[in-house]
This record gives sequence, structure tokens and C-alpha cells, in this order.
Amino acid sequence: MSSRRTTHALIALLTSLFLAVSVTSTPAEAQQQRKQTRGSVTWVTDTWVSGSGTGYSLSGTVSGARKRPLLLQYKGAQGWQRLARTKAVDNAFTFNGTWDWYGTHKVRVLAPATRRHSRRAFEAHRVNVVPSYTARGLAGDHNLLRFNGLRERVNPCQPIRYKLNLDDIGDGVLPIIDSVLFQFTQATGVRFKYVGRTHTIPQGRRTMDRGTDLIIAWASQSERPALAGAVAVSQIVKLDLGRDRKGRVWSVKQTGVTVNSDLTVPGSPNQAVDIALDSPSRATLGMTLLHELGHGFGLAHTDRNEAGRAQLMYFSTDNLPWSNGWFRSLFGAGDLAGLRKVGLAAGCVRD
Ligand SMILES: [Zn+2]
Repeated sequence: MSSRRTTHALIALLTSLFLAVSVTSTPAEAQQQRKQTRGSVTWVTDTWVSGSGTGYSLSGTVSGARKRPLLLQYKGAQGWQRLARTKAVDNAFTFNGTWDWYGTHKVRVLAPATRRHSRRAFEAHRVNVVPSYTARGLAGDHNLLRFNGLRERVNPCQPIRYKLNLDDIGDGVLPIIDSVLFQFTQATGVRFKYVGRTHTIPQGRRTMDRGTDLIIAWASQSERPALAGAVAVSQIVKLDLGRDRKGRVWSVKQTGVTVNSDLTVPGSPNQAVDIALDSPSRATLGMTLLHELGHGFGLAHTDRNEAGRAQLMYFSTDNLPWSNGWFRSLFGAGDLAGLRKVGLAAGCVRD
């Protein structure tokens, strides 16, 4: 009985000690003991070219330890996120690099708190990340897919896990696929994560691999009858109701792109596109993949006129050549504007 009382008393004493300790070390007081961080940032250029050697370059000074870690951050759909990190040495720092995602973004330098110096977020700065080429046409040259009146979007806030089925074509197309996916990252801010090979031909819900958001596959017309007469088809395999900041949308959960192997075997008399990104004579596999994946991201065909023909989302491979006469795997201004509306700039898609 008495020992139990002692225990209670001891617990009470410990609790009050703990309270006393926590009162004397509130974060606010610890903050006051730190010196204020001073410094400045010089932004060399406000226009950053994506996917090129001339990206961003900024420098500045910051007070604090001889080597102090710093972050370059951008404001994304989920708040401030890390773009790069560096260390100030003897109070001077530089950030040099490239950033992929097209558009106008808010960026800033953050000096996290150290033992002796306070946290300091330097004033945010607006930069414009632009393509390394001049996209042709007008921003208005695009249309969005709608199903029962609702827009279709993938959730751009998580990486798209993709698999490849190259059984019919081989690994030679890998650089083309890499370039195509990188262009979607540039246009939408979405990241892709390769999760392996598959033998699956996406046709319906039951044919899709688990843990996979996208399959790019090759198949013959006999394996995939919907391919008859088409270089490739896109199929949304799984769709759920979701919402974004503008209201209800269809959330694209799984999608597939299937290329017609009968029309893409190099050297075959039926070959319909060049297995390349760019070609002096006809449409290419790169253009086809960009087009089909554009559907998966929620883009519809452009209008059937000359302006629509200059965009990759034109309904046929009969696209206009560029001014140098070549057919190129590059999004037009309309394609890019459409992708901006379904990408990270439009915020996350929630279930
Ligand atoms: Zn199409």
C-alpha cells in the first residue's frame, strides 16, 4: 500500500521535472540563442532552358559555419520541394544545373537552421523553364479528352510505374522510349519509374500487371485486333472517379500503349513509320509514342485542319513536316499547353 503511494509520488515528481525541463527548452528560446542568418542571392537569369547545358546559375552569400548546407527549392503542388542542394564554403555559394519541367515556377534558396544560426528562407523568385526548341503553332491548338463530361487526368504527384513489352521489337527502341518519357516529364512535371519487363499486351483490366501504371508493348494485329490499320493504339485500362482543385475528374489509374509490330518491323514492306525520333521522309515511332501517351494523359485529337496538323495530337500520322522538311518528335505549342492543363501545374488528383 505504502510502496504504491511512493510510486505515485515518484511519478508525480518525474512529471513535474519533465515539465520543468520542457519549459526551459522551448524551441522559441533555442531560436533566440541562434544568430540570425544573413546573406543575399543573385539570380543570373530568369529563363532556364530545359534539357540543355544552359540551365540555371545563381550565387550568393550566407552567414554561418565555414561549410553550411543549402537547398534550392521550388514551389510544387505539395509545397516547397527540393530541386538541388549545395554547401556554402566560407559564406559563398553557387547553384548550377538544369531543371526539366517547363513553365513558370517559384524558386528560393533555403538555409536550414544550424546549431548556431537560424533558418532563413531567402525571398522567392519567379523563373521560366522553357523548351530548348521553338514549339510551333499556338497554345490554343489542343483539345482535352472528356468522358461523360469529366476530364481525364493521371495523378501527377506520384511517379508513373511503367513496364515494357519489347518481345516483338527488341531493345533498339529503348533510347526512343527514354526520350519520349523525358518529354512528358518536361511537359507535365510527372516522373516515371521503370519497374521491369513484361509479356503483357494491355487489352483490358484483367491483362494489366499489378503495381504497374503504364505498359508500353508491341503486338501483332492477330494478337491485338484493335490494331488493324493503326500504327499504335492507346487504352485506358483502369479509371476511377477522383477530384482535383477544379472539381470532379476521372483519375486514370492504368493505361497501355500498344504498337503494331506488323507495321513497325524495320525493313518490312509494311513498315509505316521510321524507327527513330526524327526523319527526313515520314512520321516516326517517337511521334507515334508521344501521340498515344498523350491520350493516356488526357489529351484528345486536335482539330482536323492545318493548325491541328502541326501538333502531335493530330488524328493521323499525316503530320506536317517542320520548316527544314523533317518530321520531328517534338511537341507543338498546343500539345504543351494541353499537357500543362493535366500535369503537375494543375495540382494533384485525389481519390
Ligand atoms: Zn490518337
